Amino acid sequence: MDYFPIFLKLQDAPCLVVGGGDVALRKVRLLKAAGACLTVVAPQLSGELGQMAERGEVRWLPHCFAAEQVAGMRLVVAATNQRAVNQQVSLAAQESNIPVNVVDDPVLSTYITPAIIDRSPLVIAVSSGGGVPVLARLVRARLESIIPAGFGLLAAFSARFRDRVKARFSDVEARRCFWESVLEGPVAEAVMNGREAAAEVEMERRLTSAEDHPSGAVYLVGAGPGNPDLLTFRALRLMQQADVVLHDNLVAPELLELVRRDAERIYVGKARANHTLPQEDINQLMVRLAREGRRVLRLKGGDPFIFGRGGEEIETLAEHGIPFEVVPGITSANGAASYAGIPLTHRDHAQSVTFVTGHKKDGSIDLDWPALTRPDQTVVVYMGLTMAAELCAAFIQHGKPEETPAAVIEWATTARQRTLTGTLGSLPALIAAYGVASPALIIVGSVVSLADKLAWYRRVENEPATIAASQQT
Ligand code: SAH
Repeated sequence: MDYFPIFLKLQDAPCLVVGGGDVALRKVRLLKAAGACLTVVAPQLSGELGQMAERGEVRWLPHCFAAEQVAGMRLVVAATNQRAVNQQVSLAAQESNIPVNVVDDPVLSTYITPAIIDRSPLVIAVSSGGGVPVLARLVRARLESIIPAGFGLLAAFSARFRDRVKARFSDVEARRCFWESVLEGPVAEAVMNGREAAAEVEMERRLTSAEDHPSGAVYLVGAGPGNPDLLTFRALRLMQQADVVLHDNLVAPELLELVRRDAERIYVGKARANHTLPQEDINQLMVRLAREGRRVLRLKGGDPFIFGRGGEEIETLAEHGIPFEVVPGITSANGAASYAGIPLTHRDHAQSVTFVTGHKKDGSIDLDWPALTRPDQTVVVYMGLTMAAELCAAFIQHGKPEETPAAVIEWATTARQRTLTGTLGSLPALIAAYGVASPALIIVGSVVSLADKLAWYRRVENEPATIAASQQT
């Protein structure tokens, strides 16, 4: 280790920044965030720094640097663009044994400032030893993306219970287990999502009852349309914490790979007309698993609240008093549209978009046809593949021109995506010719005509992602 990492307490401590430009301003902001009492030395101050001085937020000495200015300082920063001045500052500070940093000059510095991830009170500092600051910043960016924004709240919340937890568990190992279950369980999720009151109730229960087991919870999580890159941070976090996962065939295998290795996996898939588990049984199963104190992940393709029966599932949970949370996902219509180059709305083509599902009732497709066939809109049909021919015919029968552009997108956003574009007249034949299988979406409307120009995803040689209807004839 070339440098020894520490966290300095700077609340109300006198600190000196030499320099009046943008670099100095950045250092001033950081030090102020840590509560330092700042003096800035510079003949002139640039815009914002000047305003801070006017508002009395920093003390400004409108002079050139002089060695005696470092007297009594806890920390000194040199941020001028003149090496000679920086050198003077460094020498003066070192003579008085005051830690000094010269921006971008490790040789003149006795300490260096790390890249910081601030989830106060949780703070993470990353350093490349002053050699490659860009590397430290890249590491920082990666950490930023995996550390939830709410971790600061969680750290502050947990700190409040520190003494009580210590009193309750004298055994270090028991204490560690307790904290792990708090920081990776329903309490943490509640705190990070602004429900501190609920988290407090759970903490009280665990600290006061003989049974300190965490209560179970169900997370209804949207896994997006299939491409793991389209998961939300929150979905990924819950996937990596779950004790048991309930999934169906819409959740791509690549996504299941990301679930915690030792989580139990229960397949509750619902292939059309081949219901593995009736919905009611799934609902009851979730209640039972949560009652056992498990963190249950109900992983859903796309978004749980769009044709996902998410509403029904949480209704049962609510009735049984099981804590639950819902995590939205990118619905397949959004995924398919983006990856196929079909903007769902467009100033020249569609002012609205409607998501429908092609249910059959009394032998005909039960949809509001007068509304769906109005011009200037896009219609996305979920679960419409097996009825594609009837659907297209119904659109035409209810007044939509046969030449209306239409597309089918199979396994959207995944490496298996296929996009076929044609018209209401030609789509059913295309689907049959190419053996399109579920899951697939149908998009109807003039926006589909933009796909040829805007498609960017997987245009593989010998396997064109987009096959125009004209090529079929
Ligand atoms: N909750 C899901 C939809 C569930 S209904 C969502 O928000 O996307 C199931 C239907 O979604 C499938 O029949 C299919 O029409 C569509 N679907 C889901 N994933 C898809 C994908 N990767 N590509 C194309 N269609 C998909």
